[in-house]
Amino acid sequence: MNKETIAIHHGYEKDSQRTTAVPIYQTTAYAFKSAKHASDLFSLQDLGNIYTRLNNPTTAVLEARLAEIEGGVSCLATSSGQAAIFNAIANLAESGDNVIISDKIYGGSVTLFKHTFKRFGVEARVFNLDNPSTIEALIDDKTKAIFYESLSNPQIAVADIDAISAVAKKYAVLSICDNTVATPLLVNPIAHGADVVVHSCSKYISGQGLALGGAIIDREGLSEFFKGNARYAHFNEPDESYQGLVYTDLPFPPFNLRVRLALQRDVGATPSPFNSWLLIQSLETLSLRIEKHSSNALKVAKFLESHPKVSSVNYPGLETNSYHALANKYLKDGLCSGLISIDVGDKETAWKVLDNTKLFSIVANIGDSKSIITHPSSTTHQQIPLDEQKKIGITEGLIRLSIGLENVDDLIEDLKTALDS
Ligand SMILES: *Cc1c(COP(=O)(O)O)cnc(C)c1O
Repeated sequence: MNKETIAIHHGYEKDSQRTTAVPIYQTTAYAFKSAKHASDLFSLQDLGNIYTRLNNPTTAVLEARLAEIEGGVSCLATSSGQAAIFNAIANLAESGDNVIISDKIYGGSVTLFKHTFKRFGVEARVFNLDNPSTIEALIDDKTKAIFYESLSNPQIAVADIDAISAVAKKYAVLSICDNTVATPLLVNPIAHGADVVVHSCSKYISGQGLALGGAIIDREGLSEFFKGNARYAHFNEPDESYQGLVYTDLPFPPFNLRVRLALQRDVGATPSPFNSWLLIQSLETLSLRIEKHSSNALKVAKFLESHPKVSSVNYPGLETNSYHALANKYLKDGLCSGLISIDVGDKETAWKVLDNTKLFSIVANIGDSKSIITHPSSTTHQQIPLDEQKKIGITEGLIRLSIGLENVDDLIEDLKTALDS
């Protein structure tokens, strides 16, 4: 089946009431048929719903659709994108280990890796996304993951997924790709060798800024990958917290199974059924929306390129952009999603543009149908020192735009007025 069809039909067998819309199973827990049934479910002799911290029928439909659209084998939905990334890393690394991260990732991921995981004893080693061969020198026997974004927020750099996957394969290190900005409609990192994909569903998948959500999608064949791989001994040894269960011995995708049984059990970063339901509605129109976000953004980028007050425009859809060739290689029809960043020289000018736009809202979000304007240096990346911001391409004159679904002529007119004022 094609992605547009999967997004609308996959994973929902009409329930007993034959509702066409997926029902919201707004429940915390599930009644067991008998004491034995309860015991069998807890021991995995039987599979089924136990408690919504672990699974929920509404969330399960969202998970089935996302797994299928990404070309993965299973999906686990989380309460936010940050929860997805936290779970994916905590599933692999413990104190004394390290992970290798791209230098161009979301500000919240930077603080997660550099501060929170550091306090847990997990070191983050940074590689240059534009030069994946720099990864090799950073790998040692304590390296548990390579983490990067397919289309980075906010630099809008395009990752060479094949090259990163090749290094990961060579050393049998698991690679995790954050596919939030590109969305599964424009690229499937798993098809290019990524092992695990994470999403913030709060952005383009939600599409209207209605609900937080996250997802982890794992590829087929990770049991074989983990088996006998000394880096990931905990997948091959009995889990004392789960009656000695060995994840790679079970006939289920081991990565997400362990996140669900061990991490979600203990951490509980679970989506509400209502938010899962909202995301199911949104996913139905993602294919239409991402095309429009992309075509609107390209037109706005071309306008900005011609404006004298804009010293640089960063959008991979522009032929002059250094990532243009990679965008054409990896992204469907060369569509580049809705993010643009521009440099207007300094903070004062940037703030003036923000304050003078009328259609664009000053919001710390992306992927909404409503256009958004952000000053990363003083907001989303504020917690990163200015000199470090510069190194990752966040200058004080940088403005990030998330181009929405309004009429593009109105958006251009609004930006023109703000830039000229
Ligand atoms: C927003 C974002 C996240 C975090 O997602 P939340 O749902 O806000 O927790 C992670 N990665 C990227 C690329 C993002 O844009």
